[in-house]
Amino acid sequence: MTTPTASAAGRRQSWISILSIPLFALTLWTYGGAVQAAEPGKDAAAAGLPRILVLATGGTIAGQADPRATGAYKSGQITGEQLMASVPGLDKLAKINAEQISSIGSQDMNDKVWFALARRIQDAFDKNEADGIIITHGTDTLEETAFFLDNVVRGDKPVVIVGSMRPATAVSADGPGNLYEAVQVAADPRARGRGVMAVLNDKIQGARSVTKTNTTSIETFGSPNDGPIGYVDTAGGIRFMTQGAGFKRATYRLPAGEQLPRVAIVYSHANMDAVPIEDAISHGAKGIVLAGVGDGNTSKSALDALEAAAKKGIIVVRSTRVRSGFVTRNVEVDDDKNGFVVSEDLNPQKARVLTQLLIAGGVTAPAELQKAFTATW
Ligand code: GLU
Repeated sequence: MTTPTASAAGRRQSWISILSIPLFALTLWTYGGAVQAAEPGKDAAAAGLPRILVLATGGTIAGQADPRATGAYKSGQITGEQLMASVPGLDKLAKINAEQISSIGSQDMNDKVWFALARRIQDAFDKNEADGIIITHGTDTLEETAFFLDNVVRGDKPVVIVGSMRPATAVSADGPGNLYEAVQVAADPRARGRGVMAVLNDKIQGARSVTKTNTTSIETFGSPNDGPIGYVDTAGGIRFMTQGAGFKRATYRLPAGEQLPRVAIVYSHANMDAVPIEDAISHGAKGIVLAGVGDGNTSKSALDALEAAAKKGIIVVRSTRVRSGFVTRNVEVDDDKNGFVVSEDLNPQKARVLTQLLIAGGVTAPAELQKAFTATW
């Protein structure tokens, strides 16, 4: 795994002059185009174009493969600068500055990179260095990064997270189109106040709802409970379907350091016993999120173990392994009696992130935790 390179010294700052890209850049997508260095901020504002800061983390969108090969590829090979420079037409939309935060497949995404991203975004907004942010990211954990950032970044400027399902060198790569649409959204004033948005395959989806639904198809990201917050395409532009983010957002303080408290996800199934719960506790989990069956349910022995965990002060959140729907309190499980929290619409991986942030912020009373989980639209 590559460690983040977000330090001021390691960061490469250069405004990209897309005008210098030859027309054949698209076919040479792998190799990127010419990049010219200039002082960020003032020049762009003077030119009247929105200033977009791209924070690259790696992923398939930056992956390389032999297009004649079987489909195998290595993610995170191409820098953010090369990526942006190889998409024709971006110069008409924005002035773009790219920085490399990490070069990893998102299966290796971690707290360190999350904290580096959150701090860089906040700094860029606080110092008015950018009008919008784009994060390039692998698709596997894209929804978790989106949700984490949505909960810790303050300000109403657009933050767009983008990836691709096919590597840059694939026949019919989806990265260039996704990047173009990400810039369209990040540069548009109507995108303000909507929190972190995922932009892929012509859809704009909110950080709370968006989830990966297909292992390999480009039609993978969906928002099962409430649908996309908007649509974007190069010809038709942007159409938002909601006011704001679609639900009321809360912002939590980014904890000091660069690590979140340990919270385990325990996946429920037929013939479930208490072993995974006992394992989580013995490895120091401060919280357990149940990826329950149905309405966040699990076996009697697992429920007993969760009840015992809650009595010891471990936060227990019931979520579901089912793709859509809300987990409801006190229906089949007595949450009030057991001191449990339900995740509502949050899937296990997002419920984990919110539990971590709440524990880090000192929120441990079940009623208070429940309030934080319950979104209002
Ligand atoms: N595992 C890779 C990642 O998440 C590939 C998935 C992708 O980016 O599409 O970075």
